[in-house]
Amino acid sequence: MSQLAADYKAINLSQGFPNFPVDERLKNLVAQWSKKEIHQYLPMAGFPPLLEKIATLTQNSYGRKVNPRTDILITAGATEGIFATIQALVEPKEEVIILDPSYDCYETPILLCNAIPKRINLNTDFSPNWELIGATMNSKTKMIIINNPHNPTGKTWSENDFVQLEKLLELYPKVLVLSDEVYEYITFENKHISIHHSEKLRDRSISVSSFGKSFHITGWKIGYLIAPEHLMIEIKKVHQFLVFSVNSIAQYAINDYMDLVQVSELGNFYQQKRDLFRNLMQNSKFELLPCEGSYFQIASYAAISDETDLDFTKRLVTEFGVATIPLSPFYADGKQTQCIRFCFAKEDNTLIEATNRLLKL
Ligand code: PMP
Ligand code: GLN
Repeated sequence: MSQLAADYKAINLSQGFPNFPVDERLKNLVAQWSKKEIHQYLPMAGFPPLLEKIATLTQNSYGRKVNPRTDILITAGATEGIFATIQALVEPKEEVIILDPSYDCYETPILLCNAIPKRINLNTDFSPNWELIGATMNSKTKMIIINNPHNPTGKTWSENDFVQLEKLLELYPKVLVLSDEVYEYITFENKHISIHHSEKLRDRSISVSSFGKSFHITGWKIGYLIAPEHLMIEIKKVHQFLVFSVNSIAQYAINDYMDLVQVSELGNFYQQKRDLFRNLMQNSKFELLPCEGSYFQIASYAAISDETDLDFTKRLVTEFGVATIPLSPFYADGKQTQCIRFCFAKEDNTLIEATNRLLKL
């Protein structure tokens, strides 16, 4: 879709990345550090002061004390963290539960382990379907992947969802939780509930974070995992041979930048964008679904067209000059919901211009 947007010079609300400038202070830190002699390999797990800072952030955000020397791994984006985790912990023929619609980087690492992805649908409001999840879990289940706040729907998990997960996993003591929380600091009315809040689950969970999302630097491909030492030892064995260690300049710059910014302000920043986009779309024929977190807004076009979501999104680019993402590719069975995804991590002017075009539908 980004390619199609470029071909047609359309406004790109499809792929999830910010189009506004990155903080000058962060860019200056990169410039300053790149002039120093910090261009060689860092320790495999990451730059030690950065690991300390992540441990402090985890304590401040979630009240959980983690050991920076054993429980944190800097990764080449959340994507590498997810791949390394699955490769390290999932064995052939084991099953891994994925909740659809789901982001695209979970299934392939499972298949590459000769393991079995069990993709099941969320409820129609995109909350977890506990009956179905319970019915799918069995003695072969090794892991459940959860994503909260959720890409593509912007749904967040409630306290009750975590209670349900805790209850279910009491019956399956060996099942691990891979908790993709890359949008952890982008929540709106409700505060983010992390897997780290769950005393029952956190010692068998791996959380995934991304500086790409939290510092508006998706192109840097840098993030981190947190997991208990016995799991992290295994994950590090894969990380060692995937990348060994992650970009040194980025780690030095981010380590300093973490003293300058409050990630807790990110929610307000994106809430203004969400509210602007929703207000601008109020008089359109799209029906906007609730958006509780992430920088994605789902909308139904059922009142506009009967086309498949792929045909509809292609027509939005070619005829109306706005690129969005169809929802069906996020489902194993290509389910048609007549919904599309907008990314609102964009300059206000971009959102205004895009909605002007969408109002013509
Ligand atoms: N998980 C989700 C839910 C995402 O939206 C993204 C961003 N595309 C990723 C993982 C990957 O993040 P990164 O760019 O840090 O690899
Ligand atoms: N996660 C981003 C999205 O959902 C994009 C990353 C990618 O294009 N692979 O749009």
